[in-house]
Amino acid sequence: MDYRINLSDIDILQTLGKGAYGRVRLGCMKSTGQYVAVKIIKKAAILQQKEVEHLISEFSILRRINHPFIVDFKGFNQDSRYLYLILQYVPGGDLFRYLRTIGKLENSHACIYVAQMILALQYLHQNNIVYRDLKPENILIGADGYLKLTDFGFAKVIEARTYTLCGTPEYLAPEIILNKGHDHSVDWWTIGVLIFEMLAGIDPFNTNDPSKIYKRILSGKIRYPQNFNPRAKNLVKHLIVHDASKRYRLNDIKNHAWFEEIDWNRLLRKDLRMPYVPVPRDPTENSNLGYYPDSVNLAPEIAPESDPFIEW
Ligand code: ADP
Repeated sequence: MDYRINLSDIDILQTLGKGAYGRVRLGCMKSTGQYVAVKIIKKAAILQQKEVEHLISEFSILRRINHPFIVDFKGFNQDSRYLYLILQYVPGGDLFRYLRTIGKLENSHACIYVAQMILALQYLHQNNIVYRDLKPENILIGADGYLKLTDFGFAKVIEARTYTLCGTPEYLAPEIILNKGHDHSVDWWTIGVLIFEMLAGIDPFNTNDPSKIYKRILSGKIRYPQNFNPRAKNLVKHLIVHDASKRYRLNDIKNHAWFEEIDWNRLLRKDLRMPYVPVPRDPTENSNLGYYPDSVNLAPEIAPESDPFIEW
């Protein structure tokens, strides 16, 4: 299947979010009026940082996956300065902003959100993909209130153990920091961090200094807020476990008492009520979104020699 989408077929509108190597903008398909998200990545930035491999990996992973809780990939393109990944537009904003707005989630709300991410990770692991970058910024809220995982820049197809240092400091598992080699159990560590952050409103290793974050992660000490749900606490204690071989895995997690109320099959069929459904709005009004000046110049350019075309 040819995934190349002509940029002249898309009206590029305002910025939806900013990422490490560029920004994500709202797009509107001229022929159908359908909204899309266009992830625009500056080639110079990824070439400088030797991130080309991550990008190619993101593209090749996205085009072969299809899951209700993972953003749909629609196509790609490039010009002399930018790469463009065209994704399904998810209108409810990301979980990071949602959490910052409401502080923390009710126990049952957190539970049904985490359950969706577990199903997304289960699907990825079954396809030999480790996600490696689970965090609220990469979880989007759909129009129906169900979640969609996005940003596969750090995801990796693995056969055995992999050794690259990547991810976001707060969510890094010890075996990644210590470069011991890691497999998909790193994603179960990040589920533990996510549960904590959703229920406490702050991540468990919170500090402004990244070198201290690593120290705190490696010390393994977490202070739980007093009202932290005891079942959730028990589960987190089995996920934020240094020795990856002793960490809970898929079946231990899905069978844990914290998920007692979750009907996994109905959830996968999207047959459950979601605790929050975003108010439908005109996406061209900056509503659930932060403010980002739209400074990326999308005018066609003569290719500078330093920004070669990238073979997918
Ligand atoms: P990066 O890989 O550069 O970090 P992301 O893919 O994480 O970029 O996207 C950055 C932000 O853009 C997200 O946190 C989110 O707010 C917004 N965003 C990303 N993808 C979409 C999408 N498909 N629909 C709506 N907003 C999106």
